[in-house]
Amino acid sequence: MKKNTLLIASALSLSLLINEIKAQDTIPLIIHIVHNAKPMGTGANIAQAQVMSQFPILNADFAGQGWNVGNVPAVWAPLVGNANIVFVPALVDTSGTLLAEPGIERIDEGSRGWSIPNDVMQARQEIENVVKPQSIWDPTRYCNVWIADISISYATMPNTVPPTKDGLVFSYQMWGDILAAAGPFRHGRSATHEFGHWLGLTHLQNNCGPQPIADIPVGQYNYMQWLMASPVFPDAANACSGYPDGPMFMNFMIPAWSNDSDIYMFTNGQVAAMQQSLADNHASVTTSGVWHTTSLQQTGYEESAFFVFPNPTKGNVQIRLNVTGKNGHIKVFNTLGAIIYEKAVTDWTGTYSLSLSGEKSGMYFVAVMADGKTTTQKIILEE
Ligand SMILES: [Zn+2]
Repeated sequence: MKKNTLLIASALSLSLLINEIKAQDTIPLIIHIVHNAKPMGTGANIAQAQVMSQFPILNADFAGQGWNVGNVPAVWAPLVGNANIVFVPALVDTSGTLLAEPGIERIDEGSRGWSIPNDVMQARQEIENVVKPQSIWDPTRYCNVWIADISISYATMPNTVPPTKDGLVFSYQMWGDILAAAGPFRHGRSATHEFGHWLGLTHLQNNCGPQPIADIPVGQYNYMQWLMASPVFPDAANACSGYPDGPMFMNFMIPAWSNDSDIYMFTNGQVAAMQQSLADNHASVTTSGVWHTTSLQQTGYEESAFFVFPNPTKGNVQIRLNVTGKNGHIKVFNTLGAIIYEKAVTDWTGTYSLSLSGEKSGMYFVAVMADGKTTTQKIILEE
């Protein structure tokens, strides 16, 4: 019996160790929405909900659990990779102040003297030479994304551009999967593909030579056909002699001429390459902590003047704050930066109660703004 117990114990610690080795890397995004004096939710000035809709798509795709991944043919199913990378919206700006909207900076181009031309190549030049250098946030702490009225999406590869141009650019119609997202690229896979580039991946080769990553099957294909009709496995079978399965057309890194519904996997080799590239080129982004409100400036309040209790809580939360005025503003965020509770309080009399019952257990941040001051505290919600 003792031996068994020991075995179980060492199996447990081994699985803990494996979990630790496979710890997830977090990539915080700041999304600069560049628009032409458009109201929020119009044109390139896309709604917050559309911005947020991209995150679960990226996170599922990078975990090997995205839409249609069940269609991977059995012969390649063991190759589906989990990158252990999580994308989150930044919560604080470069000076540590809470962002009005998680992960978002909205810029009216006129206010900066910019003008993004209609012609796509001229638009790209304006973005590369003017918009990026003038609006980028510290690329050692944030992954920078620009969304604009441009008809293409593209990303920089590591070590190919000066740091002031590091990041990804998206058509406002190719980000997320709701509202203004449009066309065959309206399911958020342009971003999956472009983040693959940002993490160092190149396209699959369209010839019978070796692929850029060893576990990608050799295959040649005619991707122009795929916009007309979805490929069916095995597509272009035997185009390369000795490779009857044909090309891995469902790989996220095929050249971008396929419908979002038809691409749904990275290979194990690709995720290993992305993890290495992240460690080599963007490691400081994963440890910057700009997705935590704990890096907020605590402005003004004595620690003893702000209590959130009980902590941990089963759902009922009390906030005691010695405000001098009667007005306060409370926001509760989850770890993805989404606001799950918000309330303006106009009759603050010492202690305010709110309920998080019905929310998932885990960590949350309570932010209170009052008397022109802001303060936050972490709380743990238990089952
Ligand atoms: Zn590409």
